[in-house]
Amino acid sequence: MAKHKTPLLDQLESGPWPSFVSDIKDEAETRHKNPNGVDYQIPVDVCDDLLGILELSYVEGETHWKHGGIVGVFGYGGGVIGRYCDQPQAFPGVAHFHTVRVNQPSGMYYTSDYLRSIMDVWDRRGSGLTNMHGSTGDLVLLGTQTAQLEEIFFELTHNLNTDLGGSGGNLRTPSCCLGESRCEFACYDTQEMCHTLTNDYQDELHRPAFPYKFKFKFDGCPNGCVAAIARSDFSVIGTWRDKIRVDQKAVAAYVGGELAPNAGAYAGRDWGKFDIVAEIVNRCPSGCFQFEGGKVVINDKECVRCMHCINVMPRALRIGNDRGASILLGAKAPILDGPQMSSLLVPFISAEAPYDEVKEVIENIWDWWMEEGKNRERVGETMKRMGFQKLLEVTKRKPDPRNVWEPRHNPYIFWKEEDVTGGWTRDIDAYRKKHQR
Ligand code: SF4
Ligand code: SF4
Repeated sequence: MAKHKTPLLDQLESGPWPSFVSDIKDEAETRHKNPNGVDYQIPVDVCDDLLGILELSYVEGETHWKHGGIVGVFGYGGGVIGRYCDQPQAFPGVAHFHTVRVNQPSGMYYTSDYLRSIMDVWDRRGSGLTNMHGSTGDLVLLGTQTAQLEEIFFELTHNLNTDLGGSGGNLRTPSCCLGESRCEFACYDTQEMCHTLTNDYQDELHRPAFPYKFKFKFDGCPNGCVAAIARSDFSVIGTWRDKIRVDQKAVAAYVGGELAPNAGAYAGRDWGKFDIVAEIVNRCPSGCFQFEGGKVVINDKECVRCMHCINVMPRALRIGNDRGASILLGAKAPILDGPQMSSLLVPFISAEAPYDEVKEVIENIWDWWMEEGKNRERVGETMKRMGFQKLLEVTKRKPDPRNVWEPRHNPYIFWKEEDVTGGWTRDIDAYRKKHQR
């Protein structure tokens, strides 16, 4: 029988969607029955008390979680999020309810044996509740007590060859799409880059030295399955420099209805006959995709690599052969100054191991940000405060029209006089004369 009455939470079990309330109730019941004879190291009614305190929060319209100080494991400055409740007498099972962030494998591939092993640890030393995966990408273990933290850390590192992820003012757990392991659109090996940089930057991951959090995310192509452009301070997005490869025979097969557009993803709905003009030509954001005389013609110089045409006709159109990545900087959620997407910093960079070029950009940014960033200022905010030009200077990049949202309307990059041969004024005069203005 339930320990606490939860009429408000019970409403969240109605409707067509899976309910986290039902999941917690299931786990509470399993813990009481204990069919596997688990030797619980934290109170058996942790899940009942979690439901109880959540119901109280709904009734009173305020949270009963409080920040109770820093908790963690020896030698690490992150990886554990301290959580305490302000009603420990009424809900002793969640007096402490710390979260453990576990560094997920690149691409989130697990063996079932590994998952069983990690759940053995977590059933015994935690609530049994997980979040697969948290928004940063970690495997998140929800709810344990302070005395268990070192034990969990020991078992993860020694028995499961697994490390904690990041939290606080440090490098957060890097995360990537599954890339070349399964996806033909991948322009570089996202898993390899993610894994390599995770290992190379262990110090930055575990010992907070930054003004605030810093996230790496690796998308293999602009489809952005890990949404690097929106969710990471440092976004690496696969791209190509040459041309989209076109198979005109396959184009004809799409147009003739022999191949289903969008890889058949909308099968079952009647979208009518495939209309290449309506569905691709008119939707190409830079107007560079044409269908003339039964053939696809792409003005690749104007293509902005949005992926739309390739997604619609994947058997006919393929990413180019000269592949690498773009680097963008500065995405963040709305903590201080509203949400922000990353800005393009490096249009094209080699994405081959050992990633020295990428690391040079990263380390120049860190040196600058650690020097100039204010406390709790994301690098995107430092970039806005000090100017994109400053960012180009510290990363030793030459300004490029692709750094500017609308290069024909917005000067954005302010040239210094010494940057322009013969001086700025003389060049402007020559330009005006030439164009008779
Ligand atoms: Fe594939 Fe691109 Fe998605 Fe990565 S981001 S999984 S390469 S579609
Ligand atoms: Fe146009 Fe996007 Fe296709 Fe490039 S990738 S040709 S911009 S639809």
